[in-house]
Amino acid sequence: MNNIEPFIRDINDFPKPGIVFKDLTPLLNNPAATASCLQQLLTLVGDKPVDKVVGMEARGFFFGMLIAQALNAGFVPVRKPGKLPHHTLTETYALEYGTDSLEIHEDAIKPGDRVLIHDDVLATGGTAAAVCKLVERLGGEIVQCNFIMQLDFLDGKARLKGYDVGSVLTY
Ligand code: IMP
Repeated sequence: MNNIEPFIRDINDFPKPGIVFKDLTPLLNNPAATASCLQQLLTLVGDKPVDKVVGMEARGFFFGMLIAQALNAGFVPVRKPGKLPHHTLTETYALEYGTDSLEIHEDAIKPGDRVLIHDDVLATGGTAAAVCKLVERLGGEIVQCNFIMQLDFLDGKARLKGYDVGSVLTY
């Protein structure tokens, strides 16, 4: 199986009216589709060496962990404020209305670590840009930002200029 698109469903008006949410739970529910998605994410990485994979709460955890295992790399969770138990670094970023913050354990990345950033969806790019900053504040070198889906009409790539950005599906 190559085409994972049938396993992504549109949910209208979630989490707010007017938003069409891309739901990947049917993909997670199907082992062949999950295996194919993982393989395609690994193809995006190619033979670039990776020391750490950083995945964003919560949907970046699913494939982030699988990618890390396949690459024999460590997995690093980035979480919403107050969820990580040890010393953290925080990055606050702008939303359409207001701000949001993300945290990383400050000992999770060592200077010079080659880091792959993974999330399920690239939308406006605000989340991924904030994670890039966290990784770079810890001295990590970003090898690639990869996603299962990229929503091109929101131009998230513009926020990730200078980075290698890849996705399995583009809408
Ligand atoms: P951004 O910061 O606008 O790029 O939004 C990306 C973040 O929002 C990611 O962590 C995604 O998990 C989440 N997100 C945005 N749109 C969707 C969607 O349609 N489906 C699932 N997650 C989404």
